[in-house]
Amino acid sequence: METRRTVLQLAGSTLAAGLMADPVAGAPHAPVALTPASYGDVTLLDGPMLEQFRRQHDTLMAMDEDALLKPFRQRAGLAAPGPDLGGWYNWVRKYNIPADFRGFIPGHCFGQYVSALSRAHAVTGDRATAEKVARLVAGFAPTITAKFYDDYALPAYTFDKINIGLLDAYSFAGVSNALDVLNRATDAALPHLPEKALTRPEMAARPHPNVAFGWDESYTLPENLYLAWKRGAGDRYRALARRFLLDQAYFAPLARGDNVLPGKHAYSHMNALSSAMQAYITDGSAMHLGAAANGFDLIVAQSFATGGWGPNEAFVAPGSGALGDSLDTTHASFETPCGSYGHFKAARYLMSVTGESRFGDSMERVLYNAILGALPMKSDGTAFYYSDYNNIGAKFYHEYHCTCCSGTIGQVVADYGISAYLTRPDAVAINLYAPSQFTWKRGGRTVTLRQTTQYPLAPDIEIAVATPHEETFAVMLRIPAWAGAGTRIAVNGRRFADGPQPGKFFAIRRTWRNGDRIALTLEAPLRLEAVDDKHPGHLAVVQGPLALFAVGPRFLPFHRDELMAVKQASSGPEWRVTTPEGAQTFKPFFAVAQESTRLYQATVG
Ligand SMILES: [Zn+2]
Repeated sequence: METRRTVLQLAGSTLAAGLMADPVAGAPHAPVALTPASYGDVTLLDGPMLEQFRRQHDTLMAMDEDALLKPFRQRAGLAAPGPDLGGWYNWVRKYNIPADFRGFIPGHCFGQYVSALSRAHAVTGDRATAEKVARLVAGFAPTITAKFYDDYALPAYTFDKINIGLLDAYSFAGVSNALDVLNRATDAALPHLPEKALTRPEMAARPHPNVAFGWDESYTLPENLYLAWKRGAGDRYRALARRFLLDQAYFAPLARGDNVLPGKHAYSHMNALSSAMQAYITDGSAMHLGAAANGFDLIVAQSFATGGWGPNEAFVAPGSGALGDSLDTTHASFETPCGSYGHFKAARYLMSVTGESRFGDSMERVLYNAILGALPMKSDGTAFYYSDYNNIGAKFYHEYHCTCCSGTIGQVVADYGISAYLTRPDAVAINLYAPSQFTWKRGGRTVTLRQTTQYPLAPDIEIAVATPHEETFAVMLRIPAWAGAGTRIAVNGRRFADGPQPGKFFAIRRTWRNGDRIALTLEAPLRLEAVDDKHPGHLAVVQGPLALFAVGPRFLPFHRDELMAVKQASSGPEWRVTTPEGAQTFKPFFAVAQESTRLYQATVG
């Protein structure tokens, strides 16, 4: 793979050399090609992404604060009023994993709800949201005790989420004592953490009262520990981050190009790649950049046409046909909110460091085909978990309240804006095409870019530039690798003679004036993607970033050329084809409601 070699060469030479030459005291040590926008600088405009963010924000605001604090108050022996959220969230007398997941990880997603609310405040400036964050932190602080983690199956897992919740409360919601609270929460957790990151087999080899004790995710801790150090929580966090890097069993072999993914728990090992990226960005470790880049490529290589990965929450062996086999055997095809959150973070770090647009191609696949189509969370903790790529699939809520995915959905939808625009001093990169406005502060001046588009249901994207003064910089447009020869770009109606190159950013460098307009038309040819090499007849219809799901109740058999004739009906979220057997409708995942679905069509002849 050409692209992977490029990254590794960067890791081995250019970037590492840059580290030696130009360290900046107190700042991230590694050179970064592009910096993601800040939460407050991007405003989503009317469209499905804004609608999903608002709905999730409303749900988090409606969650009962006593119920959220209850498991912590109970362990601290404090009065604990309010209802049980139930599911994974509350203590239960009879703890019976894996037959019954009630009481699986009490309080685990509290920190993620706090994080999501804090980010939502940073995005919207909503005062009531910041006040709710402040009340939750104030309610949590007096409950802190090391006893919380006595006989607790996943202490690292829960502490990692409390860490990011308190960090985000401090950084994004103005809770000034949140770092002090974090230091006390860290003191309470440390006696319960292992001496180093442990793999699942290593944990299983230790005496443990219950199988769930073998599922802790200490190897995901470094990312947020590095962030704690960078945001001023104290020097010990950097040392803790290094202590929990899963080097020997994971990062070192990945950096060498060894595929150690098969059989590993999917989401947590994607998430661990963000720890590797922080080890690179913060500590300058080129080995960890190589590990993250290779790991990400190996995951993308075993993805479904939706961009999702890890059926039954496990990575598969290349060439085994396991992805195709899963279409008949499971409805747990992709852990969607957690997986999308982990995917977005790793892709954003990699794009930021390498400047390569392909990480954005993979983000938008996961956006439109996975997270944007998640069923909305409810304030009782009911949440969407698995996307279902079964031959007879459907959208469904998880049976337990307050799963992992109820925590990550609020974080990933709050991150839409910061994932859409990235900058460097002389350029702004537009990574996601969505109705939105980016306010770019350049020194003392401000440039505003406003995107108007129905993409991906329509191919046209218009970007209006507003600037009080003439400014010289580049606007970099992500041209997806799938973009067809009809893709074109114009500024103020004048088309560029050279067509943009798919799979790269197209940079328009000029002196911009107020009112300048960029018009981008992305031609999206239809293509067919087999689920894997062992199942060449199981084909997904893909147009641009969209994997198209056939919707039931009836699913036709197809010839390849019939699938290639699938066409969008007007400009809505519906595609159709008619064959001698009848008519079949297709929809992108975000437009699927209660219909039964089939992602991979069975082809005949
Ligand atoms: Zn999850």
